[in-house]
Amino acid sequence: MSTNLTDNRAMWAHLGLDLDKHDALLQALGSLYQQTFLTQTNRPQAMSYFDFVMSEVHGLRIRELLDAKAAGRKVVGSFCVYVPEELILALDGVSVGLCAGAEFGFEAAESYVPRTTCALIKSFFGFALEKVCPYLATTDLVVGEATCDGKKKAYETFSGMVKRFYAMDMPQHHSPEGRALLRAEFEKLARELEDLTGRRLEVEPLRAAIGTVNAKRAALARLAQLRAADPPPISGLDALLINQIAFYDDPARFTKAVQDVCDELEGRVARGEGVMPAGTPRVILSGCPMAVPNWKVPAIVEQAGAVVVGEESCVGERGQRNLVEATGNTVEELMERLVDRYFQIDCAIYTPNPERREHTRAMQRSLHADGVIHYALQFCTPYQMEAFTMERHLEAEEVPVLRIDTDYGAEDVGQLRTRIEAFVERLRG
Ligand code: SF4
Ligand code: SF4
Repeated sequence: MSTNLTDNRAMWAHLGLDLDKHDALLQALGSLYQQTFLTQTNRPQAMSYFDFVMSEVHGLRIRELLDAKAAGRKVVGSFCVYVPEELILALDGVSVGLCAGAEFGFEAAESYVPRTTCALIKSFFGFALEKVCPYLATTDLVVGEATCDGKKKAYETFSGMVKRFYAMDMPQHHSPEGRALLRAEFEKLARELEDLTGRRLEVEPLRAAIGTVNAKRAALARLAQLRAADPPPISGLDALLINQIAFYDDPARFTKAVQDVCDELEGRVARGEGVMPAGTPRVILSGCPMAVPNWKVPAIVEQAGAVVVGEESCVGERGQRNLVEATGNTVEELMERLVDRYFQIDCAIYTPNPERREHTRAMQRSLHADGVIHYALQFCTPYQMEAFTMERHLEAEEVPVLRIDTDYGAEDVGQLRTRIEAFVERLRG
């Protein structure tokens, strides 16, 4: 163990990390993980794979990325589910989601962005400025997308903090013009990735990449469906963790691990066994994505005696639903199919965006949820705005909604606990 630690420290130093600050981050992450995940009872045994991944999140996986780079592959980081992993894989790159879920380096971040910036943006600045993210340090390219105003302006400065940065434009309307823009942007991104990797985008590698990512999404969809069972076969926390790890694990190995969890859950469902008793109040979380280690709200919900049965979020169903049809004999045809899929993502940056509330209602029905907790980060205008229309839409159909605006800090935990406990009581009634 000490040898491994020594090796890891040498690796982190080689990546230019600030070892003292990185130690502090890992220690905080380890104890939070212990308290949040390892104190749960009756977890599926197959979760041990994901516990192992988390225990090696800055160790083995980083070593794998460095091995891939030594073999000539490029590591491409991104912050958004609009960046198509398929294109990166088709050009033999490795895709990593840059998590930005911790309150770390916010003071430093506030020298670059206003205090009134969402925690996710401050987090990616904080990680870069404090030199604590080995994923960011490993990337050969970071792709940033012009989704919300906060991100697109933040990237103007952030782009100077990474080795190479590429800005991708984004449509704001689900219109034919919007689709054409996304199509053109995927083309431009493909050219950038070709330039980075020195390869050409070809039909067969693109088809294979679509197959790999489809398999991952199909496994996550299977997991999502199993959560419709009562009693619930898995906690919301564990399901969220799996969705979070989807962004940086090796896709084929990850898919197999998710299928193993699903096999075990199917057995539980068939035997009528659950991680909590039948009749436990059931909740959908809808809103901003929750990146590692942002587990605050689902932990409070489940400690309050409810179970989270689905995430209407980019780290969850919004980010993973719909497969890409791998039909077509040319790169152009396959690119069209990619756009077909990605253009259906109903992020709150779109206006109008009725699809998102309809999807939330559909999830609430199919997962037999008793209520919806809308979760927005403070200063996230798109999701804070949509919270109101979501609430009106769902309450009109007699689906109870609790609107929460929060951040990554612990200061509001007591207040959130009180509000969530009251909401769970409402669901029981
Ligand atoms: S919420 Fe919107 S901007 Fe954020 S990851 Fe999802 S699609 Fe991208
Ligand atoms: S949480 Fe909201 S404001 Fe922050 S990056 Fe995402 S969409 Fe933008």
